[in-house]
Amino acid sequence: MSPPFPWQAAQWERLWHARHTDHMPHALLVTGHRGRGVSEFARRLAAALLCPQPLPDGAPCGRCRSCALHDAGNHPELLVVAPEAVGKAIKVDQVRELMDFVSLKPVFGAFKVALVDPAEAMNRQAANALLKTLEEPPPRTVLALCAEGRASLPLTVQSRCQRVDFPPVATEAAGAWLRARLPEAPDLDSLMALYDHAPLAVLSAHESGDLGLRDDLIADLERLALGQADPVEVAARWATLDTPAVFLWLVKLLGDLIAVKSGASTGRVSNSDREQRLRDLAHPRRLVQLFACYDQLLRDRQYLQIAGGVPAINFLEAFAITWALSRGSFI
Ligand SMILES: [Zn+2]
Repeated sequence: MSPPFPWQAAQWERLWHARHTDHMPHALLVTGHRGRGVSEFARRLAAALLCPQPLPDGAPCGRCRSCALHDAGNHPELLVVAPEAVGKAIKVDQVRELMDFVSLKPVFGAFKVALVDPAEAMNRQAANALLKTLEEPPPRTVLALCAEGRASLPLTVQSRCQRVDFPPVATEAAGAWLRARLPEAPDLDSLMALYDHAPLAVLSAHESGDLGLRDDLIADLERLALGQADPVEVAARWATLDTPAVFLWLVKLLGDLIAVKSGASTGRVSNSDREQRLRDLAHPRRLVQLFACYDQLLRDRQYLQIAGGVPAINFLEAFAITWALSRGSFI
């Protein structure tokens, strides 16, 4: 099997056919939730394009000098452009380096490959500089831009790339792969719905205990709602955890509470395996109160993402208090 994951067969076959018939696009925009294996796909494709004697199904041969260099992580005809640190931008100098790289003809195999990952990290200057290469692509060069979505990239860049989309993965397409890794998981359908139909996200959540965090947060919301816990103490504990994950879960849970309060039918909430507890939490609250909590979370989360280094505890405390009071009539 050539693509890194079984749910990527259609995208792989389309590109492999293009290469086979000498119609390989010079620029690709590979998009989708990271947990659907976007980067892994682009890297495997790069390996296959670099190999001068790939197998009939498109897989790199794994035996030639090009494959050995690729596997060792220092193939001279593969350039990966990424931010210098997590959360930083890809700068124009890095794109100029890419332009120098693609200006030389490939020596080993059929193609030179440049990956920009994540492409949405390019600042405007960098994206503008890349446009020149996209408009006048050097022969036998493939540029692959990997992005979570297209919206954050300039239309001029998008329009010069052929799209390779990874939409939500059906549970059947990833079921055997996931089941082999999570034999104990009770309900793959719910897990897939919970993690945006992204199988790698399901796996990493399971490995990191993310679902345990969700259940702890539901229990905290229940205790706060019943007046059995002190919001200040609860928030202090949340602040010692992975606070971006805490915010993400609280947003998802409040979103579900709003959904059930708005009359969503059974099975239409993302935390469907905890639906009854969520219905019990939503029941005594008014929709406007749930929206107030939800808006507060979204606003605080966005502020924390923008203002680096600000302690999260004050925001968590404010939310815990709002939530604890939300059964009253004063919001
Ligand atoms: Zn090879």
